[in-house]
Amino acid sequence: MKAGRSLQIFLLLPLVLVLVAALVVVYSALTSVRQQFGLVSAEQNGDLHVIEEAAGFSRDIGLIQKRMSVALEGTSAGSLTELQLYRMHTAIVNDLDALGQRVQHLAKSELVLDVNHGSAKGLKQEFESYRRFVVMSTDVIAVDPTVAKKLMDQAQQHFREFAIFSSRISALLAERSQKRNAVQTQSFAHVLDRVLWMGLVGLLLLFALTLWVARRSSRRMMDIADALSALTHSESKTIDLPQIEAMQRDVGGELGRIAGTLLAFRSALERQHQAEEEAYQLAFYDSLTQLPNRRMLVERIQRALKGCARHHERAAVMLIDMDGFKRINDARGYAVGDQILKEVGRRLSISVSENDTVARLGGDKFGILLVSLHARSQKAAGKVERVVSHITAGLAAPLTMNEQDYFLTASIGVALFDENLQSLDDPLRHAEAAMYQAKKDGRNTFRFYDPDIQAHLEARVGLETDLRQAVLRQELRLFYQTQVDEQDRVCGVEALVRWFHPERGMVSPAQFIPLAEESDLILPIGHWVLKTACRQLQTWATDPQRAGLSIAVNVSARQFRQRDFCQQVRAALAETGVQPQRLKLELTESLVLEDVEATIAKMLELRAQGVRFSMDDFGTGYSSLQYLKRLPLDQLKIEQSFVRDITTDPDDAAIVQTIIAMGRALRLEVIAEGVETREQQNFLREQGCCAYQGYFFSKPLPLEQLEAVLSASTVIEATAPLSRVEQQNALV
Ligand code: C2E
Ligand code: MG
Ligand code: MG
Repeated sequence: MKAGRSLQIFLLLPLVLVLVAALVVVYSALTSVRQQFGLVSAEQNGDLHVIEEAAGFSRDIGLIQKRMSVALEGTSAGSLTELQLYRMHTAIVNDLDALGQRVQHLAKSELVLDVNHGSAKGLKQEFESYRRFVVMSTDVIAVDPTVAKKLMDQAQQHFREFAIFSSRISALLAERSQKRNAVQTQSFAHVLDRVLWMGLVGLLLLFALTLWVARRSSRRMMDIADALSALTHSESKTIDLPQIEAMQRDVGGELGRIAGTLLAFRSALERQHQAEEEAYQLAFYDSLTQLPNRRMLVERIQRALKGCARHHERAAVMLIDMDGFKRINDARGYAVGDQILKEVGRRLSISVSENDTVARLGGDKFGILLVSLHARSQKAAGKVERVVSHITAGLAAPLTMNEQDYFLTASIGVALFDENLQSLDDPLRHAEAAMYQAKKDGRNTFRFYDPDIQAHLEARVGLETDLRQAVLRQELRLFYQTQVDEQDRVCGVEALVRWFHPERGMVSPAQFIPLAEESDLILPIGHWVLKTACRQLQTWATDPQRAGLSIAVNVSARQFRQRDFCQQVRAALAETGVQPQRLKLELTESLVLEDVEATIAKMLELRAQGVRFSMDDFGTGYSSLQYLKRLPLDQLKIEQSFVRDITTDPDDAAIVQTIIAMGRALRLEVIAEGVETREQQNFLREQGCCAYQGYFFSKPLPLEQLEAVLSASTVIEATAPLSRVEQQNALV
């Protein structure tokens, strides 16, 4: 960056000022030379004055000589009176005295003494002698002019001597003056030279100094300009301004203040950058894993579309959902869950190439955008499969945390797309549909998106919206299916919820209960079922024909995990005044296994009230005797799929036999569900199963129809003895 014209002028201004100062210095130097020259001239003038004085002597003495000659001639001719002579004598004596004083003064003057001491003395003596002879001559002139003339001759002699001394002095002075003149001229030239050189050197120094100062100021201005430019254009988070920092530290005045202001401005700018970055980070990145979030992924999909169009290629979105993560989260706590998610993010990131994007979409769901895939879907899918195998291999490595090994698997859905995309959300929606298919197909696998699956998913979403309204509109009904004992007496019923949809008709709980469990809808539904069942028990309690019946209520995991679940049950019982023994809660194996300790604690709390528990769909999970022993259960309910083929499939028969044996060992009542034939009932009875539920006895029925069935059946009495198992338990 260069300084502009006006800046240069501004910087040259001090240079001009310094030049003016330099001229003043040179001028004063020349003036001093001139003064010195003046002094020399004064001395010269002194010398000239002396020379002139000396010349004046000769002239004045010549005049005296002339008057003496007039006096002598007048005396000889007798034309002068004595008075006249006397007057002439007096005038000449006076003039000689005056001259004498001048000679005296000259001879004593330092100038003359300095030139030649002997000449000064001679001059004085000769003048003295001359004067004496002239005075004597004027004295005798009236008496004897001849003697006076002789004396005048003698005076003349001394005058000549005097003139010799006088001219010698003049010559010496002239010579000295000449010499001095030469010396002065030389020294003047020398001084002039010196002044000129000094002036030149001074000027050069001043020029250099000015240049240095100007450049220094110019550099600082440029530093400031550069700093401003950096502050204006810098994209980076930190702006390095070492020159400005040094300026603020070392330079005072305006520049120091400007530097201080710039640094303060920088701090403000940095804070602003930081805030913007934090906001950007929050808006586009996931705070736990620091991976891009859904928003950023959608942006990248948008960008990928351009690449697809430009290079005629495809891209793919993967949706990865961790299998069983919720179980880990619930059992081990969120801290462990978070660590696992971070690690999953890391493993996913190293399984894909740099151009691909790994994002966390929320919960245990991750999304990956794969770009630059082949234009042909077959080949593109082949590449995706290879990436999927990298990902699953990466996730498969055991993850050790707090000395506990976790084995991670994921269900992955993949959707390929090209530039002909209808909506930016499509790839993610399609991948999600495929992911659900992968889950359905046994987890730890991956599926490509199929439009049929998508249609199914959309139907599911619609169902969920409808269910939400159904709960509000009270479109749910409770059906009851009878349970009979070994003597074919109806001993209780299972409450099974039904949904009567205005358009779809009756929707099976197998369809909508899993949906309700995925959202929070299961909570109001479960609560309604519990209260409705208790109210039914309350009604029956007043009827001796029905007072011995109990109702089994299905409880979902989500419902059971609520902190106030026990409170809800107690409230329902208290509200209706129902005997807690008449209420049986059906839990599933997976619910119990999620967190055994917490489940036991809740079960014990309710069991203390008298509420009974049944393990629904028993045999499908991984229940072992070990923990079954610890559960405060009353009943094992054999899963209906084992019952279905019990008379034909030896494996199922063996499983059912084992379950019944386990129940006996644990002194638990065993009930079989899905009993559809007498053969099945007989087989079960032979194995020692003493309670049954199934279409063979009755289908789940609305209350009115149930009442009719109950009226036509033998119903257990309220005072009936306990079941065989309960009798056994009671004995123990
Ligand atoms: P579940 O608790 O195992 O209920 C037994 C299911 O087997 C019922 O299906 C019942 O109609 C069916 N069933 C009974 N006897 C036979 C038979 O002889 N043959 C055949 N093929 N099926 C028989 P439903 O009513 O469709 O309920 C399905 C599942 O929905 C239930 O399985 C239960 O897990 C859930 N569910 C039903 N109502 C509720 C409820 O109120 N709350 C909760 N959380 N889940 C419920
Ligand atoms: Mg059940
Ligand atoms: Mg069942």
